[in-house]
Amino acid sequence: MTLAGGRIAAIDRVDRTEPADVTLAGKALLPGTVNAHCHTFQSLLRGLGDDLDFAGWRDRVLYPFSERLDRGAIALGASFAFAEMLRHGATTCVDFFYLQDEGNENAEAVIEAARAVGIRLVLARGMYDWEGAPKRYREPVADAARRTRELIAAHRDDETAVVQPAPHSPHGASAAMIRAGWELAEAEDTRFHIHVAEGRYEGERTLQEHGATPIRYLDRLGVLGPRMLGVHCVWLDDEEIELMGARHAALAYCPSSNMFLGDGITRVPELRKAGVRIGLGTDGGCTNNRLSVFEEMRMTSLLQRVRVLDGAALDAATAFELGTRSGAEILGLDAGVIAPGRLADLVAVDLDDASLHPRTDLLKSVVYAMSDRAVTDVWVHGRRVVESGRLVTVDERRLLARVRELTQGWCAPPAVAGPKCEPQGRPGAAAPRPEASETKGLRLPRRDDEPWST
Ligand SMILES: [Zn+2]
Repeated sequence: MTLAGGRIAAIDRVDRTEPADVTLAGKALLPGTVNAHCHTFQSLLRGLGDDLDFAGWRDRVLYPFSERLDRGAIALGASFAFAEMLRHGATTCVDFFYLQDEGNENAEAVIEAARAVGIRLVLARGMYDWEGAPKRYREPVADAARRTRELIAAHRDDETAVVQPAPHSPHGASAAMIRAGWELAEAEDTRFHIHVAEGRYEGERTLQEHGATPIRYLDRLGVLGPRMLGVHCVWLDDEEIELMGARHAALAYCPSSNMFLGDGITRVPELRKAGVRIGLGTDGGCTNNRLSVFEEMRMTSLLQRVRVLDGAALDAATAFELGTRSGAEILGLDAGVIAPGRLADLVAVDLDDASLHPRTDLLKSVVYAMSDRAVTDVWVHGRRVVESGRLVTVDERRLLARVRELTQGWCAPPAVAGPKCEPQGRPGAAAPRPEASETKGLRLPRRDDEPWST
């Protein structure tokens, strides 16, 4: 195989090797996997909100702890998440990013982190105006639209980062904000991302507030179409599934996150049958808590089997397709398949790894059995970013040391089950008190408010 200009130039047999050639004896080359939905900063919150219900996780962990993250911490969280994803064979990541602080500087820090670590990035720039959310998430519609347009323009010629609008959800974004996101996608010829029907409550709430369930509401707004990536789509009725297919909308499916938060099970075979295009996402690192698309392939297949009580509900080839080619297609990327002309985003796996034994069907083994340990080498846009199991772009030990330093002493507020609130490391370091200091200037939603999507 010959790589040139970030793409696969040719695939052919060679009689002799050149000094610059890489030989992969005993390895198989796979297309890099595509993580169609993530929130990278949430990796820094991993372990803080486990075993809580959704409202507890959001109000006691996500909101107060995301207030602690300055730009440096946002970039560190992104680097931490990107590094883990690359080591697990994900070559593209969608970061649905909403810590804007009324500007684009934080988003630019995430884009820079992706470049440094070496992953392909789709920065889904959040557009958010629900007044119950932390202030730093929120912007007036006109400002969000202008900043998103500027960020798209700034990266139009970027080879490994693309920006797409992301109105948060039918409840996190007003009708005007959702329309603004869609109009930008139309004008700039991009896709747009929106959380849809993650929790059961959302259908009732959207029906109450807008007179229609989420997919019907989006259709009424005129935004349900081929540019839309609906995230989750757990609670759709039969007609909404048909409507999504009829409008050629796409789904970013996050099975592990849906299980972790107890959301429910998206009806993937029915959505596929209706013509909905699907990619797989890990969602944020504190609602999964792993960042592996190979893992999501396995979960996709197993979860559907449990739902319909059929071991043949969704096979390995389909799960692999969703995590690679289909995921790239819904994002508008020329990746996810090994063929001349496609982006050179590749993963080598060690066929000698025990998890790939016995050597029966490689594709089935990759989906159902492979350990992430088997991933030895990763290329993104032709650049070798993992070599013999080690990241070559950043010093992973130093990265982890910085994560430890930042999160030292972090723990869930005392009223909540979670890690014990004991200061660790530095003797005498006091455990922070998020309720007192971190919620300053932050209007937490009333406890009886409905939760919103992750
Ligand atoms: Zn999300």
